[in-house]
Amino acid sequence: MRIIVCVLGLVLLWPAQALAGSGRDYARQRAELIQEIEEEVRLTSESIGRDQFDPRVLQAMAAVERHRFVPRKHRDQAYENRPLPIGFGQTISQPYIVALMTDLLDPVPGDTVLEVGTGSGYQAAVLARLVKKVVTIEIIPDLARQARDRFQRLGLEKIKAVTGDGYFGYPEAAPYEAIVVTAAGDHIPPPLIEQLKPGGRMILPVGGPFSVQQLTLVSKAGDGTVRTEHLLPVRFVPLTGGH
Ligand code: SAH
Repeated sequence: MRIIVCVLGLVLLWPAQALAGSGRDYARQRAELIQEIEEEVRLTSESIGRDQFDPRVLQAMAAVERHRFVPRKHRDQAYENRPLPIGFGQTISQPYIVALMTDLLDPVPGDTVLEVGTGSGYQAAVLARLVKKVVTIEIIPDLARQARDRFQRLGLEKIKAVTGDGYFGYPEAAPYEAIVVTAAGDHIPPPLIEQLKPGGRMILPVGGPFSVQQLTLVSKAGDGTVRTEHLLPVRFVPLTGGH
């Protein structure tokens, strides 16, 4: 009798187990994550100056498979709304923050966007669904190589992955309609302001590793004047390099 109960138990458990970690289950988790992000937008609407994100941004978030950008051992947490370790002391950003930074850039299909801090490549993959070209720079050669391999595997041909110090931007492909920096420095790198197109927008965390960082929106007007706005406190890994 006990054997029959065990066998029956296994048979009943099987579909749930087969589903866990399957594409279908990840798709469901992704849809739930989008709902959480929408909820958080409403809660933070006063600081971020919007109470919903562009539907294109949410569609991009719903399409990019975050579990492909996190180390295997963290895959079951890939759709939790929080940062996760990706090795080398670095992290993949929290999904809400990725969506927020993407939305604040107001990306349109013709844009060329620069990202400083490739990390896992997730933010670049989200942007690649929304714009013409993404150039992303990573200072840790191993992470840059892993991201480049991942982009190739996933057929993300719009992304150009560069190894180097992103503090200095990437003048070869400048100017950029938008720039996103995913590591925090204590000031806005002047070379990045330089490489931003008039009318362009840059979003970055500003603040030291032990002080409160502010998510900062930089807008460059048509005449080249620059305006900065602090939006909300955030926590990012430090912007390293020789500057
Ligand atoms: N956008 C990433 C988040 C990565 S965390 C993602 O979606 O996963 C920030 C990354 O910035 C780290 O990988 C870190 O190595 C990198 N970084 C730090 N300083 C940098 C610099 N000066 N130039 C380029 N990358 C830098």
